[in-house]
Amino acid sequence: MRVPLIAGNWKMNTTVSEAIELVNKMRSELDEIGNVDKVLCPPFVSLSAIRELIRGSSIKLGAQNIYFEEKGAYTGEISSLMIADLCEFVIIGHSERRQYFGETGEIVNKKIKAVLALRLKPILCIGEKLEENETGKTREMLTEQLGSSLSGIDNLDGLIIAYEPIWAIGTGRAATGKQANETISFIRLNTAKLYGKEIAQDTQILYGGSVTADNASEFMNQPEIDGALVGGASLKAGQFLSIVKQTSKIRR
Ligand code: PEP
Repeated sequence: MRVPLIAGNWKMNTTVSEAIELVNKMRSELDEIGNVDKVLCPPFVSLSAIRELIRGSSIKLGAQNIYFEEKGAYTGEISSLMIADLCEFVIIGHSERRQYFGETGEIVNKKIKAVLALRLKPILCIGEKLEENETGKTREMLTEQLGSSLSGIDNLDGLIIAYEPIWAIGTGRAATGKQANETISFIRLNTAKLYGKEIAQDTQILYGGSVTADNASEFMNQPEIDGALVGGASLKAGQFLSIVKQTSKIRR
């Protein structure tokens, strides 16, 4: 049985005090919701403060990125070693990093390796562009992204996959539950080809792209969808709480 997981990707939003305020608004209610992994991914600068706030609770913490080298002359970068004591998860290969920061499959692969080496859990994001979707290239793109991201990795060890169609991110145009379920089923099949059926069955695969409190149940009712990576709606305590509560209820 795969435990559902809801992760909030706050992106480049919230100052440290705003981040504390947001967590304070949802901490106690979030803590009490069972049978869901609840993961907050604030900006790096708030990780320490939030770690203290959620200490002793069931809420988990993640970062939004890392650089693949452990240390050295890489001004401005943060390594997985630096965050290993602070959090458990790291989002890797988000489409915004691919689009604005030139992250290629090769870079994503190095980052995944760096994260797994420190026993952190990568949330690997893959997804197709609108024109790829419209020209029937979704499966080809996903196969390519999965293959390049996981090249040379023998053991998935806690890796989570997030299927995030780029056309659905921050657009308010979510995929349908049925579409997302079919595509995630395809990703699981591909994972099975690479790592065997058992590992594929154990891997949590999330949907991400304009998930809100209004459409969350559509996704959580699908058998192949193990949760969501939530962007915009994770910045609103009420929305995020509602998504987690709905997930807990549906998957009980
Ligand atoms: C994301 O950034 O991963 C995301 C899914 O964003 P949104 O929920 O805002 O579409």
